Amino acid sequence: MTVDLVVRGARVLTSQFMVEGAGVAVQDGKIVALAKDPHLPEASQVVDADGKILMPGAIDAHAHIYDPDYTHREDWRSGSEAAAAGGVTLLIDMPLVLTVMPELARQKIEVGERESLVDFSLHAGMMTSEEHLRRMPELAEMGILSFKAFTTKPFLASYDYIEELLIRASELGGRIVVHSEDDQVIERGVHRVRDVEGRKDPLAHHDSRPPEAEVVAVARIIESVARVGGYYHVAHLNTARGAELVAHAKARGLRVTSETCVHYLVFTKDDVKRWGPYLKMTPPLRTKEDVRGLWEALLTGGVDMIATDHAPGTREEKEIGWDNIWEAWGGIPGVETLLPVSMSEGLRRWGIPPTVLCAALCANPAKAFGMYPRKGELAPGSDADLVVYDQNLEVEIKADRLHYKVGWTPYEGIVVRGWPVLVTVRGEVVAQDGEPVGRPGHGEFVRMGRWR
Ligand SMILES: [Zn+2]
Repeated sequence: MTVDLVVRGARVLTSQFMVEGAGVAVQDGKIVALAKDPHLPEASQVVDADGKILMPGAIDAHAHIYDPDYTHREDWRSGSEAAAAGGVTLLIDMPLVLTVMPELARQKIEVGERESLVDFSLHAGMMTSEEHLRRMPELAEMGILSFKAFTTKPFLASYDYIEELLIRASELGGRIVVHSEDDQVIERGVHRVRDVEGRKDPLAHHDSRPPEAEVVAVARIIESVARVGGYYHVAHLNTARGAELVAHAKARGLRVTSETCVHYLVFTKDDVKRWGPYLKMTPPLRTKEDVRGLWEALLTGGVDMIATDHAPGTREEKEIGWDNIWEAWGGIPGVETLLPVSMSEGLRRWGIPPTVLCAALCANPAKAFGMYPRKGELAPGSDADLVVYDQNLEVEIKADRLHYKVGWTPYEGIVVRGWPVLVTVRGEVVAQDGEPVGRPGHGEFVRMGRWR
């Protein structure tokens, strides 16, 4: 048998194991064999990985690609080029301003399938009204089985509404993704810092949103899951205490998962002194203890996956925050650095096992959103979404070698060990040596599966 592509001589990494001197065979965009080198078939194209890591492409479960809300900041083309270059082979687009119901979802799918280099899926929302609840079956039929809600402004939904959402989503086999910061805690915090103390400095944003906001909201929604069932995924978890609550909920047998973001694993509030408004995001940055707690939670089940909450703003939209942080855009770019920063920091600084990192970047997001094992795995039958990752390449991150429309990165100057040097989506090369080479429109919409 001669197949389309063989990658051999690799250190094959999955969420289960790492094996040297092995590789995969690819035919018609699917993995058809995973084997030690001598057992791999003949192929029309052979890539010798020369001891580099071969792993599944990363999945970013929380990326605001903005198309069509804010295309001056990012669109399907630029966002997916950055994703491909950084080894992200599937983006799950998160709504931002426009509410994603069937009409807008169809539009996003159409533009994505015309412009995106990498595969993608969609979250629906923000869920705030009865009308939104009524549209859920239609979304489910389209393969959109994840419904986003907020417990705070600007898309505030009551805890009762979120409980109803849990029930309705569960009936469809879908999950809810919740921005979990308690509105009362946030209101009090913002009032104190902004209105009473009159602060406008960059750190004021972070100080105005205390960690209790997450703890209260996560605990409250977990109790809803205990009462009515359903599947609750915590968006951008950022406190060590929040991670403990998730791990505890799992021990109770509840269907709860969480994502943290790379920035909560790398930065603390102290970094705001240097970066100012460029590090404004919501939820905000925390302490060293939280950073440590979140890394450790990858080992205990408190954190299932690492995402980005990619939501870039332009330099102008950030710069105004030096004088008045309340006016600055809240959000940072992240898709292109997700895999290298997570792998490098996780392996070198925190001693996280490579299989655990691979699970957090690949298999777990696919499992949470019903795409496993088609996505996030190296196994016969899985899509050939491959990353050859050169673990010995030392790279200083610089915005001018990344591919964001906004032209800056909060990871500027950070030196990482390792970078994706070859990236395929369903067997087709979409990036090589950190440069996107894929064809716009190669990306396909991927339906989510039911969780039950
Ligand atoms: Zn977000």
